[in-house]
Amino acid sequence: MPLSELINLRQLLHQTPEIAGEESATAEKILSFFTNLKPDQSIQNLGGNGLAFVFKGENPGKRILFRAELDALPIQETGEPSYKSMTEGKAHLCGHDGHMTIICGLGEKLASQRPQHGEVVLLFQPAEETGEGARRILDDPKFEQIKPDFAFALHNLPGFPLHQAVIRKGTFAAGSTGLTIALTGKTAHAAHPDAGVNPAQATARLIQILPKLPEKLKNFALVTVIHAELGSLAFGTSAGRGSLSLTIRAFDQKDLDGLIEMIKTEASRIASAEKLGIEFSLVESFAVSKNDPNAAEIAEKCIEELGLEIVEKTEPFRWSEDFGLFSQSCPAYLFGLGSGENCPQLHEPTYDFPDELIETGIRIFEGIAREVNG
Ligand SMILES: [Zn+2]
Ligand SMILES: [Zn+2]
Repeated sequence: MPLSELINLRQLLHQTPEIAGEESATAEKILSFFTNLKPDQSIQNLGGNGLAFVFKGENPGKRILFRAELDALPIQETGEPSYKSMTEGKAHLCGHDGHMTIICGLGEKLASQRPQHGEVVLLFQPAEETGEGARRILDDPKFEQIKPDFAFALHNLPGFPLHQAVIRKGTFAAGSTGLTIALTGKTAHAAHPDAGVNPAQATARLIQILPKLPEKLKNFALVTVIHAELGSLAFGTSAGRGSLSLTIRAFDQKDLDGLIEMIKTEASRIASAEKLGIEFSLVESFAVSKNDPNAAEIAEKCIEELGLEIVEKTEPFRWSEDFGLFSQSCPAYLFGLGSGENCPQLHEPTYDFPDELIETGIRIFEGIAREVNG
């Protein structure tokens, strides 16, 4: 298929976005693309709407996996490409349409020339944006058939020159999680607050104390208050319940896990001193994306051989990627591909994946596949 047809595919995907958990029509399009390529194995409904296609070599060898994401975002697109999202309030503003197209292009290369040894798995995961998809894929019993020796993924990066490879040893992107702390007391008449249990003081203390907890850690970590709620707008009533929501992030998985425990301990202590009930719920959890040194060597050799400009980040990115969970379960490598200094940032309403990156992405991924599997 000529490059122009892959560009058409990318633009069709852009026009018909589906958000996390709803990616069935997108999965259909990907499936029909791969049916023509006759992979050696196809897996559907993997962890939800996920798909995997396997191209096998004749000889035994390593199994490597490349990952793309199926989901778009619940944001209205305000840019005006001719292939603008046809779905009100939903759009591909993270470039997952482009990432999918790159993996489709890689599929064509592998279909026309099978790997010599081992297997190459092309994975399309659902629900990346909510941090649920990777977990569902890894928990699906069908994943056992494609458990890789190495996993690779890229993300396009606005703000970096077009085609520039952005790499990092060790942690590439932070892990993060949302945490909601629900406090339950007892309402009372506002004239007799002492007859109830009002969570106001505890909430105020938590807001002051919790963001300071990362100071106890050696490496970067951050606790950000994102939402707080207390009682209701009833002037005759002393509040009986409240909640506080935080986003916690860290560059090291142990720090992230430790920080969650510290917050729970501290919040439970304050709640019990005030005789409040307390409940915690974690939402949108992303593991730290950690680059394996061997996978890094393979990928970086291919990037260098293509003569691409490389920038090595001194600090990891503070945002998180669902790919982090793969990197916690097998040797993995995530890198960035610059989408232009003037490209709107990811998730901005005018963002649009630059089609020029399709060929670059395919060349890097094919390089890695040939390096490992011939
Ligand atoms: Zn995103
Ligand atoms: Zn993304």
